[in-house]
Amino acid sequence: MRRILLWAARNSWLQDRIPRLRFAQRAVRRFMPGEDLPAALAVAEALAARGIGAVFTRLGENLSELGEADAVAAHYHEVLDEAHARGLGAEISVKLTQLGLEIDREATYRHCLGLAEHAERIGSYLWLDMEGSAHTDATLDLYQRLLADHRRVGICLQAYLRRTAADVNRLLPMKPSIRLVKGAYDEPASIAFRSRAEVAASFQSLSLLIAERVRDGGREADVRLVMATHDTALIERITGFGAAIGIPKAAFEIQMLYGIRARELARLSGDGYPARTLIAYGPAWYPWYMRRLAERPANVLFALRQLLP
Ligand SMILES: Cc1cc2nc3c(=O)[nH]c(=O)nc-3n(C[C@H](O)[C@H](O)[C@H](O)COP(=O)(O)OP(=O)(O)OC[C@H]3O[C@@H](n4cnc5c(N)ncnc54)[C@H](O)[C@@H]3O)c2cc1C
Repeated sequence: MRRILLWAARNSWLQDRIPRLRFAQRAVRRFMPGEDLPAALAVAEALAARGIGAVFTRLGENLSELGEADAVAAHYHEVLDEAHARGLGAEISVKLTQLGLEIDREATYRHCLGLAEHAERIGSYLWLDMEGSAHTDATLDLYQRLLADHRRVGICLQAYLRRTAADVNRLLPMKPSIRLVKGAYDEPASIAFRSRAEVAASFQSLSLLIAERVRDGGREADVRLVMATHDTALIERITGFGAAIGIPKAAFEIQMLYGIRARELARLSGDGYPARTLIAYGPAWYPWYMRRLAERPANVLFALRQLLP
């Protein structure tokens, strides 16, 4: 089921048709407050009142024309300003293919640089999403260029990739900000762990490796770890080991996606872990939504139930 859904995520025929169906539009609302920025800002304001931060991401990937990337970058500048004006302390997360990575890498870098400078000026943060493995090297290269001159930038790394331990070790001397995830794409066994147990073990050892650096750096650490997962059993295992070796709760920031395990995130936040919700919005939700279905095929039943009156 997971592989079929991930195949469907890449299928352009389905991408043209499914978003037009009313039941699909209703189903996606579970993971997305709306298609426009005001809907996302409203959710962020409600979360802020409960002490939970926000990260905004506008859905869309793989552009065909560079001009579209200019519009995406302009939109993210607007997001930074709007969130700042409301005092939300929110951050943004971008997909490099949405900023033109497959067409012109230098133009993509310039867009990211502009966003990194803007984020730094207002005390926000720019995160780079990690996409399929065809883009891993380019995303890491671009991140390292940004990190050379800008502190408030972070990168997502995927625990399912066999290469990630080496990537983390290469980045650590540069004091990176790393958002660790399990990984959402369909990658072959030659480059990725395929069993849930292996992926969880990789996530655990990488989290502890990075968290130790946060602990050792104390206030000056400059290394930031985000564990972006809804797997609360895994979070508890990692933070339990962390506590045993003197890693404070503040070193383990937790992020979850809007609509998934919100109560658990609130509980962890109440327990003293820094917490944020990633709020995705925008009209180009199809491939992203299909990846959410693939993560938990039971969600397909929820979607199909929306067919009922
Ligand atoms: C903040 C954030 C940013 C992310 N950014 C990226 C990125 O840039 N690149 C990337 O490849 N991946 C990204 N992901 C997705 C990630 O790779 C996983 O695919 C996703 O988080 C599901 O794995 P899990 O760690 O939650 O664990 P799982 O073992 O899949 O889930 C643990 C439990 O959480 C609940 N759950 C998980 N997913 C769902 C769902 N879709 N619907 C309902 N319940 C669910 C279920 O109860 C499940 O049992 C991101 C995830 C988060 C939270």
